Amino acid sequence: MQLMGNQSKKFHVWEKENEDKSIVNVIGQILKYKRGYIVRMPEKGGPVVCCMSGGADAVSNIFIMLNDFGYEVFPFFINRGQSAYQWERASIKHYDQLFKERFPKLYHETKEIKVNTPAREYKKDLREVKKKCYETEASAHVSYPARNSIIFLTGMEYALSLKNKGKDVTTLFVAHVASDTSYHCSLTWQRILNLEICHTFHDYQLQLISLPIEIEFGNYFDKDVYLKYCYKNGLDLTKTRTCIRKDEIQCGTCPCCWDRRRSFLEAGIKDETRYQKPYPEKSGRYYDSTLK
Ligand SMILES: [Zn+2]
Repeated sequence: MQLMGNQSKKFHVWEKENEDKSIVNVIGQILKYKRGYIVRMPEKGGPVVCCMSGGADAVSNIFIMLNDFGYEVFPFFINRGQSAYQWERASIKHYDQLFKERFPKLYHETKEIKVNTPAREYKKDLREVKKKCYETEASAHVSYPARNSIIFLTGMEYALSLKNKGKDVTTLFVAHVASDTSYHCSLTWQRILNLEICHTFHDYQLQLISLPIEIEFGNYFDKDVYLKYCYKNGLDLTKTRTCIRKDEIQCGTCPCCWDRRRSFLEAGIKDETRYQKPYPEKSGRYYDSTLK
C-alpha cells in the first residue's frame, strides 16, 4: 500500500476553499530558511506524539505510524466536554489494548488530557452562532474555530513534557485527510500552527504533520487510503467511534457518520459497523451522486 506520493482523484489541494496557497508558500520558505526543509519524516523507531480521538482516521493513522514507520507512539486524547465522550473513550480503550498487544515495544497508553474547548462559559451562545453560519456556504467550514489550535498546541506541550521521561519528541502527527472541509483541518492551518509552535517553543525542529495532506511527500489522499491500508494489514476499524451524537450506537446519518460510510464505499470495503439508520442519500456536508 503506497503511503507516499498518493494523490486523490477527487480532491485537489488548491481547489479547496479552506486552503491558501500563498500562506503555505510563504511559511514553507520560512521553515526552509530556518531548518533547511519544510517537513520530513522522523527517523524510523523514533518517538512521536499522535492525536487519538477514537475515530477511524486517528486510529488508522496511529496504526500506520506503528506498523509502517515503526515509531514509538505516544497518543493523546483531549477530553474537551464533547457529547460522545464516553463512546470515544470506549473506542480508545479498545485500541489501546489492541495496539499494546500487537506493538508492545512501540505503543504507549493514550494520555487523556482535560481541556474544555469551546469553553463552557460561552459554548451555548457559540453553538447558536455556528448554526446561523451554516446558512451561508463559506462560513460553514469555520466549525469551532479555536478548537484544533488549542488541541494541537496542547499536544505539542505534552510532547515537550515527555523530555522529563527522557523522550525527545519533535514531531506531532495529525490525522487530517483530503476531504476535510474546515479551515482548522487544512494544510494552511497546519503550517500556520507549525510556525507558531516553532516560535513560541523556541525550537525550529518541531513539526506538525498530517501524512494524508502533506504535499511535501507528494500526498493528498483521503480516508479510503487509510481504510484500505488497515484492511490489508488486518486492523478492524468497526470499533472506532465517528458519530458526534451522544447515543451508544452511531446514528449513521450525521455528516461525520455519512463521511465514514462514504469512505468505506469508496474503498470498496464492506462496512460492518452498527448504525441506527440506513445510509442516507444526502448529507448536510455535500452529496456525491456517484455514491449510493
Ligand atoms: Zn452520527
